[in-house]
Amino acid sequence: EREGPMVGRETRLRVVLRVRPLTCTEMHRGDRQVVHSLSDGTVHVSAARHDAIFGFSAVFDAGASQEAVFEGSGMRQLVELAIDGFSCTVFAFGQTGSGKTYTLMGPLAQSETQAVSPALLGLMQRSFACLLERSRSCSSDLALSASYLEIYNEQVRDLLSPGPPCALPLRWSKTHGFYVENQLSVDFESLEAITDLLLQGSQRRRTSAHALNRHSSRSHALLTIHVRSRAPRACPSKQGTLCFVDLAGSERVKETGSRGELSVEANNINRSLLALGHCISLLAKPGGKRTHIPYRDSKLTRLLARSLGGSGITLMVACISPSSRCLSETLSTLHYASRAR
Ligand code: ADP
Ligand code: MG
Repeated sequence: EREGPMVGRETRLRVVLRVRPLTCTEMHRGDRQVVHSLSDGTVHVSAARHDAIFGFSAVFDAGASQEAVFEGSGMRQLVELAIDGFSCTVFAFGQTGSGKTYTLMGPLAQSETQAVSPALLGLMQRSFACLLERSRSCSSDLALSASYLEIYNEQVRDLLSPGPPCALPLRWSKTHGFYVENQLSVDFESLEAITDLLLQGSQRRRTSAHALNRHSSRSHALLTIHVRSRAPRACPSKQGTLCFVDLAGSERVKETGSRGELSVEANNINRSLLALGHCISLLAKPGGKRTHIPYRDSKLTRLLARSLGGSGITLMVACISPSSRCLSETLSTLHYASRAR
């Protein structure tokens, strides 16, 4: 087991906040803005019966560009650490519509003919570009591959595999830890190739969203880049990962079945987000890596066990809307994110 980088807790787990702008709909119906970012890395939530301040490693307000989020969140350092052989994970967390997908991928082109303005590209594409640039310029030769999975209702599905979706088994072995059986991993060498994989996988996720009633906001999507660096002159090769997780919407899902029980789906989302929050906050405590971490509580935490534990480095991007109508979900996201710290 490798030691983590020789820096404090802040590097192991960074929690940043992004407040998206009010949407046109929100503006037209006259929603009030209840979240105000202050210049010292805190946000102030003020509404009739609520008045609270939350602090983060960085806060990005409605005016922050995609580039500013990439540079200010520490994402570039995460890419460097993945090249150095560390397991790095980026989570986007927040209620549906809070800007998770926008932050990670920008407004994804709906078709190949519709290009996205480079200024709007998200953390993922910027990281890919950074990796590929390093791969061309540095002396150690990097081999890159990608896998893209979705967890819906505690079932794991491969977003890169063609053909009808099928659930893949999640297994555990002494040598590999938790792993997904028959998961595809696709090599890539260019920005076009990895962008294409991202588009294909996201398209597959959207297709099932239509079939299964807003399924995409109820599933977690995990895109993992495996970075193998073959150092020159018989140095040991290093193997790092960079995992981007677009989490299911965190809004309290409480729809009930005919007998008043929480639906299986709602239970699964609530449980996996709780399990994740629990693991992250245990890991963030001093000496936390030596305590028992309950990864087995959900598929999500099992899949992330390797990236979160050991020498893992985590960046959590909490996303919120500034609108008064989202107040209670916003407060719940802010509490979740500050618990993780
Ligand atoms: P989520 O993935 O959390 O459900 P989305 O990323 O789909 O939310 O964002 C919801 C809507 O808000 C989208 O139309 C998106 O383009 C827009 N949006 C989100 N964040 C921003 C931002 N920072 N700047 C401009 N538009 C944004
Ligand atoms: Mg989304």
